[in-house]
Amino acid sequence: MKNIYFTPGPAQLYPTVEKHIAEAMEQQICSISHRSTQFEDIFSSTVSGLKQLLGIPQDYTIFFVSSGTEAMERTIQNVVEEKSFHFVNGSFSKRLYETALELGKHPEKIEVPLGEGFEFLKDKGVAWLEGILATRSPQGMPAAGRALTEGKAMTGPQFNNVELICFTHNETSTGVMIPEKDIHAVAKTYPDKLIAVDIVSSVPYPNLDYKLLDIIFFSVQKGFGLPAGLGVMIVSPRAIERSLYLQKKGITIGTYHNFPTLKKWADKNQTPETPPVLEIFLFEAVLKDFLKIGIETLRRQTDEKAQLLYDFFDNHPTWSSAVKDNTFRSQTVIVATIGNGQKQLKEYLKNNRMIVGSGYGTQKDIQIRIANFPALSKQTIEKLLEFLHNYK
Ligand SMILES: *Cc1c(COP(=O)(O)O)cnc(C)c1O
Repeated sequence: MKNIYFTPGPAQLYPTVEKHIAEAMEQQICSISHRSTQFEDIFSSTVSGLKQLLGIPQDYTIFFVSSGTEAMERTIQNVVEEKSFHFVNGSFSKRLYETALELGKHPEKIEVPLGEGFEFLKDKGVAWLEGILATRSPQGMPAAGRALTEGKAMTGPQFNNVELICFTHNETSTGVMIPEKDIHAVAKTYPDKLIAVDIVSSVPYPNLDYKLLDIIFFSVQKGFGLPAGLGVMIVSPRAIERSLYLQKKGITIGTYHNFPTLKKWADKNQTPETPPVLEIFLFEAVLKDFLKIGIETLRRQTDEKAQLLYDFFDNHPTWSSAVKDNTFRSQTVIVATIGNGQKQLKEYLKNNRMIVGSGYGTQKDIQIRIANFPALSKQTIEKLLEFLHNYK
């Protein structure tokens, strides 16, 4: 009997992957040249499949990189000269902010406590955000509104210098999801700024209006249920223009994986380096599987399974969902607070061949994280719930 991985990445493989790997072996995919028409066909079919599934505009370019983490670095490096702005609510959004610091930029952030969403976007709209940015005191504390921690002094004019606004759609560390409409509202309010969205642990679930956004990225070992090793970036024409502008100005935008070079090769359905051809082949195959099911069905199934999990934890006498506000509950990574018995619970599940994730960071030993990706069927989630229900 095999384990079922409810871990949020690497995750349970999508059930068709084994068959696709066998097919790849049959076709000797691992030995084909990445400069061959056979590879170009795989590349172009992958790109069109992804654009079709997610509704990406035709003039956006798809780049293949090595991971979500690489995509973070490429994002900052290629479009930010001085200042990016970050909505930070957990480890991954923080990682992107820190990447900007490490690259010598001067990022700004607005940070809310773990497990919380950006309430002000919901309650008061984007105008409130502008107000806060303009009235923030030098100590870094907001003049009004709810908790915003850390951060440097920030004023209206400084925000005007922001080149890129960064969102982490689904904060995998805390199970908090930013509603798409909040991201869209910010994008519409600041049409002159580039918008980046990390969708690593929510793709293909979010229903994003891509024409409002510039750099959207993910890796394939989470929602797509593929082996790790491939990052995907969806990039707007103006983000590429911006990288060319920075390059002309003499700013370092990287080498083989800078946007102009990636774009030059992507236009030929190729990559600058020898890519993980097997991964791209498998990605294309799973995209086709997803297209057969349809994005609407995938989203609906995700919502249904998430509801089962949240209902269970909301009705449990001692355990609870870590995210209290329904608006911000992730549909793809469900985080539950277990308390002291977390280790024994994980052990019990493991003995029954079900692997759930630990909490993240400070919550490592008291929370569990349960992925709700397309690879896990409703029956599989129900099986997990049955075991959780029977746990003494
Ligand atoms: C996993 C994850 C990443 C990092 O992706 P890798 O492919 O592991 O580098 C980035 N952002 C989020 C939200 C993630 O969940």
